Amino acid sequence: MTVIAPGKTIGILGDGQLGRMLAIAAAEMGYLTHVFGQDPNAPAMQVASKQTVADYTDKAALRKFATDVDVVTLEFENIPVETLAYLEPIIPVRPGRKVLEYTQDRHIEKSFLNSLGVPTAPFANVESLEDLQKAVARIGTPSVLKTRRFGYDGKGQFKINNATQIDEAWEAIGQQPSILEGFVPFELEISVIVARGLNGDIESYIPVENRHKNHILDITIAPADILNTVSEHATDLSHRIVQNMDLVGLIAVEMFVTADGEVLVNELAPRPHNSGHWTIEACATSQFRQSIRAAAGLPLGSAKRHSNAVMWNLIGDDIDHWDEILSRPDMSLHLYGKAEARAGRKMGHTTKLFALDKKPKV
Ligand code: AMP
Repeated sequence: MTVIAPGKTIGILGDGQLGRMLAIAAAEMGYLTHVFGQDPNAPAMQVASKQTVADYTDKAALRKFATDVDVVTLEFENIPVETLAYLEPIIPVRPGRKVLEYTQDRHIEKSFLNSLGVPTAPFANVESLEDLQKAVARIGTPSVLKTRRFGYDGKGQFKINNATQIDEAWEAIGQQPSILEGFVPFELEISVIVARGLNGDIESYIPVENRHKNHILDITIAPADILNTVSEHATDLSHRIVQNMDLVGLIAVEMFVTADGEVLVNELAPRPHNSGHWTIEACATSQFRQSIRAAAGLPLGSAKRHSNAVMWNLIGDDIDHWDEILSRPDMSLHLYGKAEARAGRKMGHTTKLFALDKKPKV
């Protein structure tokens, strides 16, 4: 087992805000960081010890990066699998290629989950208009057509309310390989963030509720207001998933909870997740420190929370309120160093803590 001790260099693939908070956590733990991405001014580039600006398929740049770092982790799940295949013989990559193969393709991901007995919405593979017609006949409406690859924040999705929209849906998603999913009339959306160490130990954070606005995460409430039995079931499902994908790292499991307490898994993200930002202030070990521990092969830290919390994302010009937030003694402000506050862009977040015996108020 390779343990990467403090003082060594953690390589991070991806240069966004998750990479930034990973690099900050690594620095707090005594590591150097080297970020590999495409934008020299990106959030993670600003705080890393070293930077490589190159395409993920640039083998010369990848080789140089691999010789400079002691382990590689990632902040973005759509890193090409070929990039990891190239790095893995040279340097440990945690989480590795196999995990990305499960999570980059919605059809592979959901088939894998069902093979473990983990429930999802009913789904069908769609590669042609004819497949889509058959899938709608089988699954019914309302349903959601999603591209198999590269979808996020509701992009690459079309909700089909009735069968007359089939042609429109197929055009709208660009006639790409897709899955059709039954629409889940969920009561709330939750996520469980779970880490698995090099020695197989597992630590998971309490399930949290996630509320979206325009398909983008708006608020996370920790813990989710669900029955203990539902919370334990969601946690068990997340453990079953990480045990069976041989993960070394951290993954977010996004789920739907229905009115009768059924839990269906929607999506996996094998990296720190927006719904785990509250852990920075409210838990013994933040999701970022936990990711670094897993990547470095250190024992995992406790994921126990000492406070309840609400996290609000600062999207687009929400960032204009930074000074009001700063003046609040009960809120902590995190800004990502992005120059331009475009609509829909995640510019920062703020977290408010509540005592453990108080219900977190939005
Ligand atoms: P995704 O990109 O799969 O995470 O989907 C983005 C959001 O769309 C989810 O967080 C849900 O709010 C909604 N959504 C996705 N799939 C479904 C579904 N099968 N049923 C109901 N809502 C869905």
